Amino acid sequence: VIRFENVVKRFGDNTVLDNLNFEVRKGERVTLIGPSGSGKTTILRLVMTLEELTDGYIYIDGEPFTYEERGGKRVARKPKDVAKVATKIGMVFQQFNLFPNMTVMENIVEAPVHVLGKSKEEARQRAHELLELVGLSDKADAHPSRLSGGQQQRVAIARALAMDPEILLLDEVTSALDPELVGEVLSVLRNIAETTNITMLIVTHEMQFAQEVSHRVLMFDQGRIIEDAEPHVMFSNPREPRTKAFLQAVL
Ligand code: ATP
Repeated sequence: VIRFENVVKRFGDNTVLDNLNFEVRKGERVTLIGPSGSGKTTILRLVMTLEELTDGYIYIDGEPFTYEERGGKRVARKPKDVAKVATKIGMVFQQFNLFPNMTVMENIVEAPVHVLGKSKEEARQRAHELLELVGLSDKADAHPSRLSGGQQQRVAIARALAMDPEILLLDEVTSALDPELVGEVLSVLRNIAETTNITMLIVTHEMQFAQEVSHRVLMFDQGRIIEDAEPHVMFSNPREPRTKAFLQAVL
């Protein structure tokens, strides 16, 4: 579903991603781990078009996304074409980024109504289902400021799913939460992983969670993938000394 081909990302002189190639298959849940600054969040932001690619290509469902090769040249695709592909992708951020002046229900139906053109009725019905999925059926009319961080993050998950994305990007979604609120968010995500076959690309520091939900774990260091393995291998018997050192430091 997602393919990175020779992806390079630089911020000024700082090469954050260095000729990156990898693929995430349909229904696969892939977790990115690695030291701070190794480029994990940048990968998600590139897929979300929040950052511009310096070089290379990203393909979604086999279709070139922001850039394509035409006549031997690398050319930017039309914003309209990019936007169409982008509707297949949802993201949940570290900071929940809910609209503070809207209720929970309004937050969830905003994009399905205005971007997908769903009827209000249909969008509200789906929102109720999603609120049930994240355990917040009783909070539809609340404003985000009245909710705990864990509840706000569960609303953000429901909001992302309301767009029926094929791909869900999770960027350190528990990092901003008080420790006692982490569990409820991870349990909602585990449930979604078990009951849907949505493709997930995950950046997290929660190694236990990564081990439980991932099909594959990619270890990053200095903008490169240094190890690509199933979780039971990555977490119990990594091949690379740098992976061993990293896991020893965080586990
Ligand atoms: P962390 O776990 O700390 O979030 P990460 O692996 O997700 O780390 P990134 O956030 O992707 O790392 O950052 C990779 C590098 O890119 C860092 O050196 C960071 O300073 C740099 N970087 C990220 N965003 C920008 C930006 N907007 N402008 C300049 N440099 C940036």
